[in-house]
Amino acid sequence: MPASIRDELDILDQAVLSDVVVGELRLSPKQALRLYHEMSIHQLGRWADARSRHMHGDHIRTYVIDRNINYTNICTARCTFCAFRRDGDEDDAYTLQYDQLLAKIQGLVDIGGTQILMQGGMNSDLPLAWYLDLLREIKERFPQVHVHAFSPPEFLEFVRFFDPPGDGLEKKMRWVMQQMKLAGLDSVPGGGGEIFAPAVRRKIGLGKCDAHEWLTTMRVAHELGMNTSATMMFGHIEGIADRIHHLELIRHWQDRSIADFAPDGGGRYKAFIAWPFQRENTPLGRCKEWGRGVGDDPGRPFPGDVVARLDGSGEKDQDPLFGRRVRLAGSSEYLRTQALSRLYLDNIYSIGSSWVTMGPHIGQVALNYGANDMGSVMMEENVVSAAGTTYCLNEAMICRLIRDAGFIPAQRDNEYNLLKVHADADSPDVRVDDWSRFRTQQLDGQQPDAPPVALTVGAGERAF
Ligand code: SF4
Repeated sequence: MPASIRDELDILDQAVLSDVVVGELRLSPKQALRLYHEMSIHQLGRWADARSRHMHGDHIRTYVIDRNINYTNICTARCTFCAFRRDGDEDDAYTLQYDQLLAKIQGLVDIGGTQILMQGGMNSDLPLAWYLDLLREIKERFPQVHVHAFSPPEFLEFVRFFDPPGDGLEKKMRWVMQQMKLAGLDSVPGGGGEIFAPAVRRKIGLGKCDAHEWLTTMRVAHELGMNTSATMMFGHIEGIADRIHHLELIRHWQDRSIADFAPDGGGRYKAFIAWPFQRENTPLGRCKEWGRGVGDDPGRPFPGDVVARLDGSGEKDQDPLFGRRVRLAGSSEYLRTQALSRLYLDNIYSIGSSWVTMGPHIGQVALNYGANDMGSVMMEENVVSAAGTTYCLNEAMICRLIRDAGFIPAQRDNEYNLLKVHADADSPDVRVDDWSRFRTQQLDGQQPDAPPVALTVGAGERAF
């Protein structure tokens, strides 16, 4: 049973927050908004850390060794925050062949990796058989590798492109997802969450699934026994109340999944990760930062805050500059938002640090602001790096960051089972005697000037 919500209590009262920390009280949306605006970042971080320690103990903080594989950058959507997508006829558009994908997984296995995160653009040229054969091939060659793949926007496009049997989205989605699961899909990543409020979503996610579709996709995954993650990308046009509305929807639907499916072995949101919008090379990034546009009045609230409502009902007409100014979020706003998410999402096990966008050191500080997990060693990244952010950590560096933050690093799997606890002299970071050479690590990405590749279905070659 979820803890109760007592909206009338003063959330700045230490005794009330102590009950939140031990899971006996749940934040209401209004209380969360008040915490965000009125509590100092240091205090908010301390309370989030206390909640994290209550859930995960004082000693171990985790990471996973996986590889981000972006199988195609061809995409029919035009999200304004995206620097990764290409039209099919652009010079640097690509779709990976099976042997390229399998070679990447072999590279992961060679360094002790356990999981792939495989996502791509919404590419209408790829038939269902391309995905199913790929999943079967991966499972045949690498049965030990967990396949965490295809976020809700991709699944929505699968339903649109493949026209599966069934009436309505839920049935069609179930059919597609069952095929994928039978072929080897293990869990579903939470990409494309962005911000759920319709007014924001309509402005930034052209051609992409709405909140209802995103949440329905995840509910079907949970029903079929697969875990998923949830995400939020903030610091663009949204208001703070929109972030809380986003957290509320995730918490609500997590309650429903646990109540409806857990008794029969169903899945749930296992982790939440939030990161700030990265503006480089994106259409949305060309919007003026609030306060720097012609006619901006710094005495007025940010347009997103004028429009945002805690129930998601904001309308764009409430401010003429809504969608035309971005807030941008730096380190303190990132840490504040993450801390609030740890306190709000009492039914989600893991909060991940976003060092990929914030850099290793803020990512490390995030471990004291409610995060319990450093996410993945980064062998390859193509999406955030397209927007100008290219941090890279190997296993030794990630272990050192966790240890320097006061914790024992441990490698985990996708289910958060501990695989190796690095408490001794044989730990990856303790073995390093010269850290200077670690400064030159480069991301292994899909090279933009790589020659176009023919698509492969199963064992035979087929051109599309
Ligand atoms: S964010 Fe994803 S869905 Fe949106 S344009 Fe980029 S690749 Fe396509």
